[in-house]
Amino acid sequence: MDEVLSSALRSVVFARLDYLDRLAHDGDEPSRAALADTEITRLTGAWRSLLTAHQPDERGRCPQCSGRRRHRRHPCTVWTIAHQHLIAAAGPPEHRTSRHAAGAGRSTVATLEAS
Ligand SMILES: [Zn+2]
Repeated sequence: MDEVLSSALRSVVFARLDYLDRLAHDGDEPSRAALADTEITRLTGAWRSLLTAHQPDERGRCPQCSGRRRHRRHPCTVWTIAHQHLIAAAGPPEHRTSRHAAGAGRSTVATLEAS
């Protein structure tokens, strides 16, 4: 991919993320509900694809991320960022509950450990 295409790709992806941020923060209730119905699934799918591409190989190294001389040891930057945004930013486990788990009176962690 040449530099112009690469720059255009970055530009449209960041513009889409900006649009979703604005919709999440400033959108009316129906827009935010539509956002939850469509974009969250799309974003979780994107995270899964990204994390799958960065799964450690049999030697525990990321096949996508390379250091100076070799592939990086797991967890690579992608997995570290995923953990920071999806797990650590959500707070301690006792405060994390999904709508389903909260309705059942259990935390998400307890629900995941029970399955
Ligand atoms: Zn990686």
